[in-house]
Amino acid sequence: ANTASPETGQTIAAPDQAAAGEPIIKFEKVIKRFGDITVLDELDFQVRKGEKVTIIGPSGSGKSTVLRILMTLETINDGVIHVAGKPLWHEEKDGRLVPAGEEHLREMRKEMGMVFQQFNLFPHMTVRRNITEAPVHVLGLSKAKAAERAEKYLDLVGLAEHADKFPSQLSGGQQQRVAIARALAMRPNIMLFDEPTSALDPELVGEVLNVIQRLAGEHDLTMLLVTHEMQFAKQISDRVCFFDKGRIVEEGPPEQVLVAPHETRTQEFLKGFI
Ligand code: ADP
Ligand code: MG
Repeated sequence: ANTASPETGQTIAAPDQAAAGEPIIKFEKVIKRFGDITVLDELDFQVRKGEKVTIIGPSGSGKSTVLRILMTLETINDGVIHVAGKPLWHEEKDGRLVPAGEEHLREMRKEMGMVFQQFNLFPHMTVRRNITEAPVHVLGLSKAKAAERAEKYLDLVGLAEHADKFPSQLSGGQQQRVAIARALAMRPNIMLFDEPTSALDPELVGEVLNVIQRLAGEHDLTMLLVTHEMQFAKQISDRVCFFDKGRIVEEGPPEQVLVAPHETRTQEFLKGFI
């Protein structure tokens, strides 16, 4: 049976209702163009509930575009995307599919949290405000409840004592951990990471990867991660997808794709990471 979340009052589907192996993200023949260039070329792509999937591939292959489309930061030109069983860009009205309205998009976004390469924290807000802002304004939590949540997730990323600081007072690694706490505070079912360590000095990469690794231990959390950290991808991924030119060239378990890839293009790409 469904239960109401004690914190938000939202209905949460009981785990037994999610059929095993059911895709929580499903792209079907998705086309995305920017002007004359086709960035996603009839992309078929699925992620199952709880799965940890890493996307690798050369610059410009469409990795960020996949995540940005999921967060509804970009539209699509053709094809269908389902998230948690519901169409992302369409909604049913009187038995017909119509283009999604803002309300539908807002609901769909609640399924997902995203962490960007450049942290994207609000510079004029304290760490705590950065985290409480969306729970208060999007989920309707009281300020006290949201502050409690902020404390919990700051603790989880090891930054409990930094709640009153501003982003500029933190290192890049700390800022990125705040960004992760901020995304988690919305209690998404899906976490999207777009090269979360690419903007960091090498000595700060580990602390962010440690946090992501801990999240990967959560059975129910679906994770979609774009990264060039191949060793890390090997450790945490159930599946690795190699993207090139807007298509999946090769996908499979990390031991295959990262260690003994079948496709020449995957082999060539990985040579750059030894
Ligand atoms: P990746 O993340 O794999 O490096 P992206 O998804 O960012 O690749 O970009 C894929 C392609 O789409 C690139 O050629 C990029 O220049 C182009 N692109 C991405 N965003 C835009 C945009 N807003 N306007 C025009 N072209 C874009
Ligand atoms: Mg990118």
